[in-house]
Amino acid sequence: ISAETRSAVQAFLGKSPKRLLIGGEWRAAASGKTFETRNPATGELLAEVAEGASADIDLAVAAARAAFEGPWRRMKPGERQRIMLRLADLVEAHFDELALLDTLDMGAPIRHTLGSKHHLVSMLRYYAGIATAIYGQTADTSLCGEMFAATLKEPVGVVGAIIPWNGPMWATIFKTAPALATGCTVVLKPAEDAPLSPLRFAELALEAGLPPGVLNIVTGFGGDAGAALAAHMDVDKLSFTGSNVTGQQIVRASAGNLKRLSLELGGKSPNILFNDADLSRAAPAAAMAVFANSGQICTAGTRVYVQRGIHDELVAEMARIGAALKIGNGADPATDLGPLVSQRQLDRVLGYLDSAPGEGARLVSGGARLSDAEHAAGFFVPPTVFAGVSDQMRIAREEIFGPVASVMPFDDVDEVVARANATPYGLGAGVWTRDIGRAHAMAKRLRAGSVWVNCYNAMDPSMPFGGYKMSGYGRESGTAQLDDYMSIKGLWIQH
Ligand code: NAD
Repeated sequence: ISAETRSAVQAFLGKSPKRLLIGGEWRAAASGKTFETRNPATGELLAEVAEGASADIDLAVAAARAAFEGPWRRMKPGERQRIMLRLADLVEAHFDELALLDTLDMGAPIRHTLGSKHHLVSMLRYYAGIATAIYGQTADTSLCGEMFAATLKEPVGVVGAIIPWNGPMWATIFKTAPALATGCTVVLKPAEDAPLSPLRFAELALEAGLPPGVLNIVTGFGGDAGAALAAHMDVDKLSFTGSNVTGQQIVRASAGNLKRLSLELGGKSPNILFNDADLSRAAPAAAMAVFANSGQICTAGTRVYVQRGIHDELVAEMARIGAALKIGNGADPATDLGPLVSQRQLDRVLGYLDSAPGEGARLVSGGARLSDAEHAAGFFVPPTVFAGVSDQMRIAREEIFGPVASVMPFDDVDEVVARANATPYGLGAGVWTRDIGRAHAMAKRLRAGSVWVNCYNAMDPSMPFGGYKMSGYGRESGTAQLDDYMSIKGLWIQH
């Protein structure tokens, strides 16, 4: 991170209190209230942020509606595409600032936040390409005589986007890129624990030439701004990423106008290692599948099923890899793992660490908050490995969202498929084997939105991402979701 980036971020933070972006203007919340956002590694105050609520959501939705009916709707797809490509260039040029803001705001190591640059910039360009590649179909009607019948694809309208704190820049781009490409306008509500990078992204969007009101940002709390957006009668579609409990509240809140929903929710993903796995690759990947971002990744491979022949070796190896990771302030380029995002998240994770031994799990490594001088001011929990875990224990059933691995032995294929699928979640799954036939068979039998064989957490703009079962519905990334942002109109012309 260069001195120039650091001073750009300081200048951005210096413009505190941060305001809401509504209709192309930066405004204080209607209530005049603000809330604090702090660095979870140090407790340092980063900025005061406008506390938007229902009145601000009303204004933002009205601005998004006006932009949708006005300039954005009339703009040719090629012009929308040019603006998106300019935005991609600006995000690429300023990505270090966005990455540093995420690191300061939610704690992830700077190497981790910088690491998504290529993917996120590519994703903006991928959807910019799609903006000029949307078209309907014609049909040979068999019953209607001389008829021209065709489908038109039209943007659904105003999209509400509600995102979590664990990858703010990631979620902002995953939600806005397909909405803008299809011609929708957006009201985005960032997470209260990490609101900063979406605001900097919005500055870049204005600089790229996005017309006022096409992208609106309302920072604030879930129960106020989030709930108002979910319930709003003039929002046509809501795209939500977050916890299952909130997802269920959003389903209920959205019923008033039956808005379309897509839900990216939690996970408890199995990562399955067979005796014939290449352990030199599988062990570090299995460790980082749980520990990366301090376990605060929705697809974290937290249920580690290990065939009995390699079980003890894998447990020892995961503990060794975890213990070698450098835990500290994410802004230090040497840091492998940062803090948990908040006191609330720390309490939650420590609760699981306390209860697991009582249920019979054996603590192999980690297991307690770091409270030495370097770590005492932040919410630091080291990589933790539990062995002797059974499927019934809470650490094996519930999403912890911390760096906690539950390692469980298994004997055969049918057994491990049944155990891996015996969860209400279905987000990700990993399989490690050198047997190609088994890899294919496992991929088909696992009930998860993404199955990774001999890799974990691979992602690409061309591939769909999303959940089975209670991990949600709808997809992000790729083309599978595009129709969720569009209405399909049947057009009939009698000759
Ligand atoms: P959360 O559900 O507490 O909050 C997510 C967002 O919803 C925040 O912006 C919050 O302000 C808002 N919100 C809270 N209550 C609301 C309400 N009643 N109405 C409307 N909005 C409300 O989740 P979190 O703790 O921020 O994030 C962690 C969760 O997100 C984990 O469960 C994780 O698995 C999940 N997640 C899923 C994916 C995915 O793609 N499937 C990706 C990242 C995170």
